Amino acid sequence: MHQENGDIDRDEAERLAALASYDILDTPPEAEFDAITRLASQLCGTPIALISLVDEMRQWFKSQQGLSVCQTPRSLAFCAHAIRQREPLVVHDARCDSRFADNPLVVDSPYIRFYAGIPLEMESGHRLGTLCVIDRQPRELEPAQLRSLEDLARLTVSLIEQRRQKREARTRHALLDSLLEALPEGVVACDDRGELSFFNSRARAWHGAGPERLPPEQWSRRFDLFEADGRTPLPLERIPLRRAWAGETVRDQELCIRVPDQPPRFVACNGRAFFDDHGERLGAVVGMHDITQRKRAEREIAETRAHLQAVIDASTEVAIISTDRRGLITLFNPGAERLLGYTADEVVGQLTPLAFHRPDELEQRAAELSRELDRPVYGFDLFVLTPRLGRPENRDWTYVRRDGGQRRVRLVVSVMQDDAGEPIGYLGMALDLSRLYAVEEALRLSEAQFRTAFDTAPQGMALVSLEGAFIEVNRTLCEMWEYEREVLLKTDFQTLTHPDDLAADLTQVGQLISGEIPYYQMPKRYFTRTGRLLCCQLSVSLVRDGQGRPQYFVSQIQDITEQRQLERLKSEFVAVASHELRTPLTSIKGALDLVNGGVIGAVPESVEEMLRVAQRNAERLGQLIDDLLDWEKLAADKLAFDLQRHALRPLLEDALDSNLGYAERFGVVLVLQGDESVAVEVDALRFAQVMANLLSNAIKFSPRGGTVTVRYRRHDAGVCIEVEDHGDGIPEAFRERVFQHFAQAEAGTTRRRGGTGLGLAITKQLVEHMHGCIDFASTLGQGSVFRVWLPAVLRSGERLENGGEARR
Ligand code: ADP
Repeated sequence: MHQENGDIDRDEAERLAALASYDILDTPPEAEFDAITRLASQLCGTPIALISLVDEMRQWFKSQQGLSVCQTPRSLAFCAHAIRQREPLVVHDARCDSRFADNPLVVDSPYIRFYAGIPLEMESGHRLGTLCVIDRQPRELEPAQLRSLEDLARLTVSLIEQRRQKREARTRHALLDSLLEALPEGVVACDDRGELSFFNSRARAWHGAGPERLPPEQWSRRFDLFEADGRTPLPLERIPLRRAWAGETVRDQELCIRVPDQPPRFVACNGRAFFDDHGERLGAVVGMHDITQRKRAEREIAETRAHLQAVIDASTEVAIISTDRRGLITLFNPGAERLLGYTADEVVGQLTPLAFHRPDELEQRAAELSRELDRPVYGFDLFVLTPRLGRPENRDWTYVRRDGGQRRVRLVVSVMQDDAGEPIGYLGMALDLSRLYAVEEALRLSEAQFRTAFDTAPQGMALVSLEGAFIEVNRTLCEMWEYEREVLLKTDFQTLTHPDDLAADLTQVGQLISGEIPYYQMPKRYFTRTGRLLCCQLSVSLVRDGQGRPQYFVSQIQDITEQRQLERLKSEFVAVASHELRTPLTSIKGALDLVNGGVIGAVPESVEEMLRVAQRNAERLGQLIDDLLDWEKLAADKLAFDLQRHALRPLLEDALDSNLGYAERFGVVLVLQGDESVAVEVDALRFAQVMANLLSNAIKFSPRGGTVTVRYRRHDAGVCIEVEDHGDGIPEAFRERVFQHFAQAEAGTTRRRGGTGLGLAITKQLVEHMHGCIDFASTLGQGSVFRVWLPAVLRSGERLENGGEARR
């Protein structure tokens, strides 16, 4: 009995749980259920029809016709009885049924007399309630009416079941939605026609767009899809969603989403089509996994590895050998190949570094280490024991090459560890000491050479710090400035410099340090220890280290006090001499002109010849003085030039006219060729001087009856003026010195033809001051042609730059 009750209780508890799971109690009315009760009451002709659900303490009506309450206590419910059986419960007259006769719903409102209830049995077998019809008077139900009522009850059951399925579907949908939105992956889907239907929030963010109705041909462009190289646009047949829709299973297809103005995103795609229960395709879905970080990490690792490999391969001066934990060689770089004469193939995976060592050195080291650690140490441990104990291993060894040759090396060994600090191998780097010694030796040698040169240099030399302190000075400088070396080393150049020269020097020091100029030279005055002022020529260069950082200055200092004085003396002498000579000479020439002009009467023939010689020599002397003065002025840059625009031809005509007398004296004809109208920018007087020099040379070196031709022509942006003679020409050996001052081909010519040897030197300077240049061509025995190149002036008055200079 007790057992039975227990079963009933448990069944009822399950039934109540099932009822609750439908989540239907106390929900608002629904049209479908109301339609059923309406139909039931019509079919059976009863005023009341209910869908009643039996809860723990009450019966609640999901739908009711003809009744205003929505629930009644379970204890009074007919339905509570009805659900105890599978068959319909029909009570024809409640008054005559002992179970209900004194039920308040029978004796009182709503005065129930007739009741027919069909249990609502769910798929699970639980009977949740009934569909029932009620009347206030006793009655019968036709069998057909009862069957229809049963049909309606079945309809009600399926409605309740559907209701729950719909709710479950909604829940699943919501779950899926929130899952998709929360997913760190991008998800995109299309429908059965291949139209884009869904992008989750990631996909929308990554593409900067949602699913749009677009022809698939435009997807790549619209959604910025590229191949994994990040450059090639993704062709239609490679778009994962298209592939999945077409029936392919997409596995880890990598591609790049490159939205403008954003860093490229690399994704791995997986996808497939999905189908309904009947195998009809419903659409396709693709998940995209962001692998940008992984790609970057992979690339970085590859780069680092390549970098490291490059370093290892490039270190031909250092032997790099790595081994595994037991000593077997795993890496043997070109430096090691070079040092040891083995190829990497011969040693990697074959040998341990022990193969490169001299047995006696190994034994000696073994003895040392064993003593130190108080246990036998041998084999590969000889190299790696100390680094493994955390002490640096840096030792000189003798390597034995493959060919038997020996090399002293410095070997540094370190332990390679994994992330957990466990040794995974060893790395040895060996430096060939004989090469190192050679470099040191070369360094010592060049240092010694520099020191000797420094010490014995005839000019003063100093190494000067960037701040100006003397780091080293040579003997000449000490003597020049009358200082002891030790005293000079305690001072700086600023202290010894004449205050007026300091600023210019410091400016150039700045330019030197900043790299604007590679070195500089300047005349500069220094005070000696005894207070004398020395004029020096200073040359400074800057020494930089391997990284280009300034280290110190190298200064060369030459005493030019004497040279300066000499120069001053010379120019004073020239000035005085020319003035002192010119004044008396003018009167001598005047006197001779008078005598030779016959003004003071006839002179004896023997005297006449002497007077003519005297006059010629006086003229020559005058010419020499003029040339000397010009030369001196040119050298001191004191000759003023008044550059003006002139038509060339009239200038040349004047030059020819002025030298006509001289030409007649030598029986030479002057010819002018050229008719172009061209202008030049020259100082007319200086130009005349140039032409006079060239013409007089051409005339005096021409044979009697010869012709001297002056011609001019345009040449590119310039003008070329030629003075040609048919004289002896200029000897090969002399050609180099033609434009030097006081240069003449042979002593004899001067005497024979006159001249100072200054003419062409002056001419060259004058031409260059007028932005032109001069050269010549000469054939011995046939004549010479001197060419002056000048820049032409355009009609606008503008001069073309470098027209003549290009030929210098
Ligand atoms: P000088 O006053 O002696 O002529 P220049 O400087 O004008 O001095 O000329 C230097 C030397 O160049 C001449 O002495 C001569 O030897 C040589 N020279 C110059 N022009 C000619 C020329 N047209 N033909 C041959 N030799 C020449």
